[in-house]
Amino acid sequence: MVKVLVSSCLVGNKVRYNASCLSIPESDFSWLRSNAELVVFCPEVSAGLPTPRASAEIIKGKGIDVLDGSAKVVGNDGVDVTAQFVSGAKKALELCQKQHIDYAVLAEGSPSCGSSKIYDGTFKGNKIDGAGVTATLLERNGIKVYSQHTIAELRSLLETDT
Ligand code: SF4
Repeated sequence: MVKVLVSSCLVGNKVRYNASCLSIPESDFSWLRSNAELVVFCPEVSAGLPTPRASAEIIKGKGIDVLDGSAKVVGNDGVDVTAQFVSGAKKALELCQKQHIDYAVLAEGSPSCGSSKIYDGTFKGNKIDGAGVTATLLERNGIKVYSQHTIAELRSLLETDT
C-alpha cells in the first residue's frame, strides 16, 4: 500500500501553535485511510518546539527563501525560529527517504506545511501564494505535496497509476 506523510494536526493531534488541530474532510479522510498507509508527522514538534508556542510566519519571503538562507521564520514574540523550522523540514525529508514515501498531505497555510498559501510575515492575517519550509524541501526532493483541500488530486493520480 502506498505510504503518505500526513501533517499530525490534520489527523486530530493538537500540535498546532495554539494547541488546536485541523481536519481532513471526512470522505477524503476515509479514502486516505483505506488506500494509504499514513505516516503522521509534525515538523515543528519534531524540531523540539513546544505546544502551545508562538505563532510564526516567514518574514519577507517563502519557504524557498528560508532554505536558501535569505529569509527567516520569526514568532509573534520576536524569537527567531528559523533553525527549528529548517531542522523540522530536514527531519520530514529524512523520514520520507527512509520510508520511501513519495506523497504528502500537509496542512495548508502553515509556514512549515503550507503548499500553496502561507501568511505574509506581517502577522495581520494576510495570505500570499507560496509554500512553507517543509513543503518546499519535500517538493524539491521529488515528493508530491497536497493539502487537506486537494486530496482529490492525489486520489485521481493514484487511481490512474493503479
Ligand atoms: Fe500541523 Fe505542520 Fe504545524 Fe505541525 S508544523 S502543527 S503538522 S501545520
